[in-house]
Amino acid sequence: MYKTTIGLEIHFESKTKSKMFCSCANNPDEKIPNKNVCPICMAHPGTLPVINEEAINNIILTGLALHCKIQNHSKFDRKSYFYPDLPKGYQISQFDLPICKNGYLDIHLDDGSTKRIRINRIHMEEDTGRLNHAPDGSSLVDFNRAGVPLMELVTEPDINSAEEAKKFAQELQLILRYINVSDADMEKGQMRCEVNISISKTEQLGTKVEIKNLNSFKVVEKSIEFEIKRQAELLDEGKKVIQETRGWHDAKQITMEQRGKEDAFEYRYFPEPDLPPLNISNEMINEIEGRLPELPEGKRIRFAEEYGLDSKSIEFYVKDEIISHYFEKIVSELKCWKEDRKCKSNFIDSVKICSNYLSTDFQSIIKNDSAMKDYDSIKLEKKITAENFAELVCMITEGDISSSIAKILLLEMYNTQKDPSDILEKKGLKQINDGGEIDAIISNVLSKNAKAVEDYKKGKQNSFTFLVGQIMAASKGKANPKTVGEILKKKLDNI
Ligand SMILES: [Zn+2]
Repeated sequence: MYKTTIGLEIHFESKTKSKMFCSCANNPDEKIPNKNVCPICMAHPGTLPVINEEAINNIILTGLALHCKIQNHSKFDRKSYFYPDLPKGYQISQFDLPICKNGYLDIHLDDGSTKRIRINRIHMEEDTGRLNHAPDGSSLVDFNRAGVPLMELVTEPDINSAEEAKKFAQELQLILRYINVSDADMEKGQMRCEVNISISKTEQLGTKVEIKNLNSFKVVEKSIEFEIKRQAELLDEGKKVIQETRGWHDAKQITMEQRGKEDAFEYRYFPEPDLPPLNISNEMINEIEGRLPELPEGKRIRFAEEYGLDSKSIEFYVKDEIISHYFEKIVSELKCWKEDRKCKSNFIDSVKICSNYLSTDFQSIIKNDSAMKDYDSIKLEKKITAENFAELVCMITEGDISSSIAKILLLEMYNTQKDPSDILEKKGLKQINDGGEIDAIISNVLSKNAKAVEDYKKGKQNSFTFLVGQIMAASKGKANPKTVGEILKKKLDNI
């Protein structure tokens, strides 16, 4: 059995108003090519770069969120290489003095365990332009992205499987979104992964292969799984793994050689002479630390403690900040209802019921509504206010409505924006609590289901549930389920 050793290098674009060293707009959605360019990002002679403070604040915030030590002294370096999308012929990056060092990120694996992955560094650099290859073989360059602030994170080789690599990248994306420094959309190229992978049967590491330009979590996972298999087969046959850079071929679902070790660039790093060194004071670090919001891990712990939710539900809210915010608004309304004594049931029970309806029925209503494709808090509350949602939850927990009526109400509330008691009244959905009325419905159902009655008498418990279902259906879901159970039991025992 081989042991797999993986290190990740992840690039992500910083969400700033302007580019890293000039005042051009940093707009990833710009459709017109070469709109956001100027002599500085186009590397005209005689121009001088100026460091973007917002980008520096962003990388400090990122470093703090990932438990890094922020360096008081740092500098920029030139990384020289030639490529058509790089106007300067070099990239301004950081070599030996990155801004963030020695951090870590804890990831939760499918088997329930938690693993700490150490982060070696996060440094600041600038993005390149983009090449658009035309079908006739020609290529056009779009420099809108050239000079956009880019962060590069490098992990220690602490990752041992495709699952761990994927989980690391996913958790990182979540954190970047929580702290709002990057949208980290992999499809848009705002976050890109590179994998360094080797396998070995001994403590000594095997030959390292680099897989570049992985643009989705799935591809990160698949390329690693493929590479583990490919390298193991080579070694099993007594062959050697060659040190090289490979890329993912999506149509063939394989990794392919891109360039060998001998083609590796010699970057000739040297300190950037046009920029002063970067001095970051402890006051500045402390001030930025104060801006750190609650992070995914903090939310997991809080949601478990405060709301007693299971890990699957918690993950639903951790991944969707908008729904999570909506949920907490409803919960705070529920608290008010409880304090006003309109809702007497156990608070945690109400929260759980609220969570169930949000993550299942409500979720499917939103999914079926094309207008809610990219919903936000305002859109959600325009459909159903937190107050109305809380009222519905109370009606359920108080036993005023059955679950089938609750589902009808939820949809009506969504479509009409009315409050649940209003709809209940107007639609004639009010619960039947009158024993006589329920008794009559039950008698009718029993007379039509002689076989089920007989089965129940023979000891079949399923028949009881079946009969309750029939009675609820006959009352169009309106009969008080508790009363139905009591009367039915009494009736059957007397037959
Ligand atoms: Zn510019």
